[in-house]
Amino acid sequence: MTADSSELAGRVDDVFGRIADAARSASRDPAELTTIVVTKFHPASLVRELHALGLRDVGENRHQEAQAKALETADLSGLRWHFVGQLQSKKARQARAYASSVHSLDRDSVIDALASDDGSVIDGFVQVNLTDDPARGGVREQDLEKAALRVLEAPGIVLRGVMAVAPLDEEPGRAFARLRGMSERVISLDRAATAISAGMSHDFAEAIAEGATHLRIGTAITGNRPDAR
Ligand SMILES: *Cc1c(COP(=O)(O)O)cnc(C)c1O
Repeated sequence: MTADSSELAGRVDDVFGRIADAARSASRDPAELTTIVVTKFHPASLVRELHALGLRDVGENRHQEAQAKALETADLSGLRWHFVGQLQSKKARQARAYASSVHSLDRDSVIDALASDDGSVIDGFVQVNLTDDPARGGVREQDLEKAALRVLEAPGIVLRGVMAVAPLDEEPGRAFARLRGMSERVISLDRAATAISAGMSHDFAEAIAEGATHLRIGTAITGNRPDAR
């Protein structure tokens, strides 16, 4: 093992230990959490190392980068790609080819473009904007039901639940408590759509306390991004 990969293994152990602690503090079973390692800006070789460490869920926020890495790692068995960034409608069909789930459904045009009646299925999360800034991704809170219903009607997309990024100017626990309320609204439309995609390197403990089921963790596991833009 190279020095870099033993450091990576150390960070994986550390983060999974902290996730388990946060789950136990919230009286939750760590086994019900899916941890997605967000590998953006890192080379496909990092995805290989994560796979060798037993990790299977990886995330990307840009289509071209995701598509290229998925191709480069196509030989790895059981790997699941989660698309977590803003998706252009015209790329949605291509994203379907490699992604097992899209966490950022926030526009009718993207939902419609991602839909498919070819018999395949992809998991979908409705992203909600927890800020007042319309430039941030996600539907406005008042449009949540409309977006969830659109996904429920879309062939080839299984509605899993909601997704959000904590605002910069609000205590994450408070923001995630609001997200939990929105999750309950979606569950009242579809009892199976119980997933909550929330929690990043600096706020996953707060997200776990508020019911997150899918954590999206980048730098705490991958280390600093090589050429972060
Ligand atoms: C980059 C990214 C993450 C991971 O962020 P870290 O702070 O590095 O853990 C999670 N979610 C989304 C949508 C991202 O773009």
